[in-house]
Amino acid sequence: MGIIEVTNLKKSFGTLDVLKDVTFEVGKGEVVAVIGPSGSGKSTMLRSLVNLEQVNGGSIAVEGEYLVKDGVYANPQGIKRITSKMGMVFQHFHLFPHLTVQENLELAPRLVRGEPAEESRRKRDELLRKVGLTDKKEAYPAKLSGGQKQRVAIARALMMNPAIMLFDEPTSALDPELTGEVLQVIKQLAEEHMTMVVVTHEMGFAKEVADKIVFMDNGEIVESGSPDELFHNAKHERTKSFLHRSL
Ligand code: ADP
Ligand code: MG
Repeated sequence: MGIIEVTNLKKSFGTLDVLKDVTFEVGKGEVVAVIGPSGSGKSTMLRSLVNLEQVNGGSIAVEGEYLVKDGVYANPQGIKRITSKMGMVFQHFHLFPHLTVQENLELAPRLVRGEPAEESRRKRDELLRKVGLTDKKEAYPAKLSGGQKQRVAIARALMMNPAIMLFDEPTSALDPELTGEVLQVIKQLAEEHMTMVVVTHEMGFAKEVADKIVFMDNGEIVESGSPDELFHNAKHERTKSFLHRSL
């Protein structure tokens, strides 16, 4: 059984059906790359996993526990427990501008979890080392490059000890020369067997790091498979033409 199981997910905004019948699973320790054209529903799907969007039907189970089952949501406590298993990183970083790097990292564990200060500081230092930003801990986000901001955002998400990390186009807002440092951090997490779902336009990265590629188009998963299956032996014309445009 997958650590994430999504079954027949449906989501509309008004009359627009954005997720039509989305089914997929993510195994523990697996890296799944989600690719597809703009507007295909990738962000909506990811946001639904952490309850930033509420779906109109279908099920999402994380570690065997239902966030939503056949369109019916868990109670607020359940929702909190389930969504806190996942850390999310957005295209536009979403750092708190009035807090230093280290304060950005410590805020949620302290406030949401009531974690002892000593524990938060220990983890903070460890994670800043991991993303290569120890020397920036007193800096404010405005003083950082996009790549540094995104590495802070990754470290901040990891502060909550998530079982799963979700990335929504983590390098799309970056200058090309800064994407590498962010992808490197994600790759390192993959090597440590972090379970991850990464929405990305970086086909080279997807090919190299993902165990599974999911291709979405027009609110549907058109096909999914190993990087080799998708990139070299795509079954569907829509997949082939998307890849042809993207590679
Ligand atoms: P992707 O991430 O693949 O680009 P999105 O999930 O952001 O796609 O969007 C899928 C579709 O849903 C798009 O047509 C988008 O305009 C629409 N959409 C997304 N969010 C909203 C919203 N809050 N209200 C109305 N339409 C939305
Ligand atoms: Mg998107």
